Amino acid sequence: MALHDQSRKTASGDSGKAASGDSGEIASRLLAWYDAHHRDLPWRIAPRELARGIRPDPYRVWLSEVMLQQTTVEAVKSYFRAFVEKWPDIEALAASPTEDVMKAWAGLGYYSRARNLKACADLVARQGGRFPDTQAGLRELPGIGAYTAAAIAAIAFDQPAAVVDGNVERVVSRLFSIVTPLSEAKCDIRTYVERMVPATRPGDFAQAMMDLGATICTPRRPRCMLCPLREDCSAITSGDAERFPIRLPKGEKPLRRGAAFVAVRGDGAILLRKRGDKGLLGGMTEVPTTGWTARIDGATTDAAAPFPGNWRPAGRIGHVFTHFALELDVFKTMTDGAAPAGHFWSLAHEISGEALPTVMKKVIEAAIPGATKKQRAH
Ligand code: SF4
Repeated sequence: MALHDQSRKTASGDSGKAASGDSGEIASRLLAWYDAHHRDLPWRIAPRELARGIRPDPYRVWLSEVMLQQTTVEAVKSYFRAFVEKWPDIEALAASPTEDVMKAWAGLGYYSRARNLKACADLVARQGGRFPDTQAGLRELPGIGAYTAAAIAAIAFDQPAAVVDGNVERVVSRLFSIVTPLSEAKCDIRTYVERMVPATRPGDFAQAMMDLGATICTPRRPRCMLCPLREDCSAITSGDAERFPIRLPKGEKPLRRGAAFVAVRGDGAILLRKRGDKGLLGGMTEVPTTGWTARIDGATTDAAAPFPGNWRPAGRIGHVFTHFALELDVFKTMTDGAAPAGHFWSLAHEISGEALPTVMKKVIEAAIPGATKKQRAH
């Protein structure tokens, strides 16, 4: 049945109706565009390779999808290449110490993903090294939610799964002029996508939707004249595609403050410690810091340094996490003392290889410019 015949009333009473076309036509137009204009990505098997019988490796699909959660394609590319060079398959990743995985992940953010990645690799390797080929089976694994399960099922196993990320939400909101705020329209969007997924090439369809959203139907200034779905699109006829998806105004993120302490030994080593395994940045490495708090009091000054010393201000850095913004006042001192309990010295040429999250790299760079970029000695 034609998709536009099935258009539903949304919560706001809008019909959410495409300008023309049906689900089969939309899918075939999109796939034809994808064949000619898909992005070449290090984890992707291109349509011409699929036609030659080359199949996607579920390990690489899974690894890329976990890395891409909340991270841009450009940021992921070099990490993906480094991971598959070091750990070419799930058994190799499972055999590696968690600490090495955390170090390789450092800078990619959202570090619970790295811990779940390792836990998932361990489990799949123990179970024979094969990923489940269904969404339900994939969702049983650590770190795999509804979106990632759908993406792996579609791309690696050719299952007709509805893969809905932010790019797809934007394309569908525009195709059907969905005026319900996005936060309330997600179920409707999923239903539209489910109807569009073709029985053949569902993996390419999923990737084509992502590519369309990333390269043509962009958040600002969509390039509608180049879009393969312009004949199907409701928003283009109204001339205000950028208006979609509709978003409710966001509240400002709360601000937390604290102090961070960069202690430097005479040979350039920096004092570090490991965070606890649970919670924000769990298992990552940091310089000593105070708590991060909404209050402004003595607990966030050099009075809270990990040991007495000639602590000098070295600037202030800002970092934005998902739920709050952070400002850290950075203090620096030179010392030749022993590392306090729970801390260790990292040699100058080892710093770049430590599992330092981006916020800690900012802190160290404020105190010692270039310190996190020095290459590890071979
Ligand atoms: S025609 Fe424009 S708004 Fe509509 S799907 Fe294509 S790029 Fe997006």
